[in-house]
Amino acid sequence: MNVIEEQYDVVVVGAGHAGCEAALACARLGLETIIFTVSVESIAMMPCNPNIGGSSKGHLVKEVDALGGEMGINIDHTFIQSKMLNKSKGPAVHSLRAQADKNEYSKRMRQTLENTEHLTIRQAEVTDLIVEKSSIQGVKTLSGATYYAKAVVLCTGTYLKSRCLYGEVIEHTGPNGLRSANYLSDSLKKNGVEMYRFKTGTPARIDKNSIDFSKMEEQFGDERIVPFSFTTNPDDIQIDQESCWLTYTNEQTHSIIRENLDRSPMFSGVIEGTGPRYCPSIEDKVVRFADKNRHQVFIEPEGNGTNEMYIGGMSSSLPEDVQYDMYHSVPGLEHAKIVRNAYAIEYDCINPNQLLPSLEFKNIHGLFSGGQFNGSSGYEEAACQGLIAGINASRMIQKKDPIILDRSQAYIGVLIDDLVTKESHEPYRMMTSRAEYRLILRQDNADLRLSKIGYEVGLISKERYDWVCYKEKEIAKEIERVTSVTVGAKKEVQALLESLNSTPLKTATSLAELIRRPELNYDVLKSIDVNRPELHPEITEQVNILIKYDGYISRQMKQVKDFKKLENKKLPQNFDYNTIPSLRIEAIQKLNQLQPISIGQASRISGVSPADISVILVYMEQAYRNNKDNKGE
Ligand SMILES: Cc1cc2nc3c(=O)[nH]c(=O)nc-3n(C[C@H](O)[C@H](O)[C@H](O)COP(=O)(O)OP(=O)(O)OC[C@H]3O[C@@H](n4cnc5c(N)ncnc54)[C@H](O)[C@@H]3O)c2cc1C
Repeated sequence: MNVIEEQYDVVVVGAGHAGCEAALACARLGLETIIFTVSVESIAMMPCNPNIGGSSKGHLVKEVDALGGEMGINIDHTFIQSKMLNKSKGPAVHSLRAQADKNEYSKRMRQTLENTEHLTIRQAEVTDLIVEKSSIQGVKTLSGATYYAKAVVLCTGTYLKSRCLYGEVIEHTGPNGLRSANYLSDSLKKNGVEMYRFKTGTPARIDKNSIDFSKMEEQFGDERIVPFSFTTNPDDIQIDQESCWLTYTNEQTHSIIRENLDRSPMFSGVIEGTGPRYCPSIEDKVVRFADKNRHQVFIEPEGNGTNEMYIGGMSSSLPEDVQYDMYHSVPGLEHAKIVRNAYAIEYDCINPNQLLPSLEFKNIHGLFSGGQFNGSSGYEEAACQGLIAGINASRMIQKKDPIILDRSQAYIGVLIDDLVTKESHEPYRMMTSRAEYRLILRQDNADLRLSKIGYEVGLISKERYDWVCYKEKEIAKEIERVTSVTVGAKKEVQALLESLNSTPLKTATSLAELIRRPELNYDVLKSIDVNRPELHPEITEQVNILIKYDGYISRQMKQVKDFKKLENKKLPQNFDYNTIPSLRIEAIQKLNQLQPISIGQASRISGVSPADISVILVYMEQAYRNNKDNKGE
């Protein structure tokens, strides 16, 4: 009988993008933490696309960094190309994306974990939860060893009962042939946890030397690289960048796929799991967008130390022979040598409606979870959940209130609220369209929105906190100044406006008014702003955005005020909504099952109508008044 028994404050199961953030947060907050993985070589492994960030995902990385997480710093030290997406659009959708050197990314994250105090790394498969009276006590591993803990954070990703499929081939492994974790799902079910079966897919990897790049469009990184982390000095990361390449599928590719759909496990029904709607396989795209005669294919380097190239946009689970024909039909890939086949992976994850907005399980106290295990998809979505789950596991142990970010504070708040409140039967991927207050949730102001919380939690240093407070003050001061500066229709002013194709002034106006003109901005008006102070670019960037989008931002702030009113109307937990007369059956069922923490959250549950919300509001108001009367107040 294995008698290994150890005691920790926190057990983190999984060293993927979620687990790493969770474990680092707990250990950095001084808690004795152990992190489990089925293979230490796979710490922070990127089994799919070799990039971090992109539309809305860049926002998540910035927010993780602003709260004191690691992903932003790690990619700033291991990227090989960087690009700010959507630069031609408004700042709300500017999104940073960096191509990563996958091996270096994993290696550096592993070193960070290895060199973090209070953190123990353990290669072992966790097979069982130890739960007593609905409270977590610890976990057991395959060897029978027991690890007791006050909190457990599950971040098992795509490994639970996972199997990889392409054509008729089915391998009962995790990603990249790593072992799968086959026991923990049963232990979760035994403890009343509802599980889902999801799937995702990845494209083949091909040898760089077998590609004809002359048939593709080279995609360059940005000249001036912007870092993900607010702690990274941009001057330290201006590297020679690798290129990506753009080519397209064509009718030949599409007919090869159509002729073999019956051999695709996804279309033959072998695959049971539900896949991500917004990350479709190539066969899915050919079927769903039959009118399109070509689809973009991005050839991306996997790193400096390898010739492997990732075929972005062509993930698939078609048989190997079809994959050869399919990829060879793409211009530039006619002689491609496949290093790894494309495949789909199915895995167990949970219904995230079983979680509180703190990412703690409603029915198992002290059990938290993050990442793909919660039904999301993507490295960035995983990292932010892992960070919040780790922070809240620590705060539970420290007897502090959980950190719950709402939809007006962060994309992280939108993501977690969507997961725990809305019904979703497919992997959840973040998008800017999901964030109703996206004009104020920009990636450029993530530190102003969140770093004070990171400081209060204990993950942001005093120095970073002071810098954010200083920035805030200087931004307000400079906005006040440019609003009060009057610019007259003088010769040099008119000349500058003319040179910038801007209408000459008829009468004097404020500098702020000029900044608001679409063709002008804070920087280009320097020559006529004689008393301009020397300010840090992060400050002038904010001044420019806050003045230019002042109208939209104030309107959105008003909406946030109304939103917060409903968010602050708290609802009792474990409440029986059958007791509220004239509430509709469907609403009662959904409310009893989900136990929303506020009127705001209740209003976002599908099946709960605005009329139901009014009924609850009246009832709660009445209950509150009766309570006051009873107390004779
Ligand atoms: C084939 C494939 C294709 C993908 N395609 C996409 C895509 O197209 N778009 C996209 O956004 N995302 C995609 N992803 C998802 C992306 O990889 C994940 O979103 C991300 O890695 C999730 O991070 P995570 O931390 O939740 O889990 P993971 O990175 O999967 O890490 C899980 C960790 O848990 C450990 N673990 C699991 N169970 C146990 C156990 N019982 N005991 C001990 N350790 C355990 C593992 O060893 C690993 O360290 C894909 C993933 C795969 C595998």
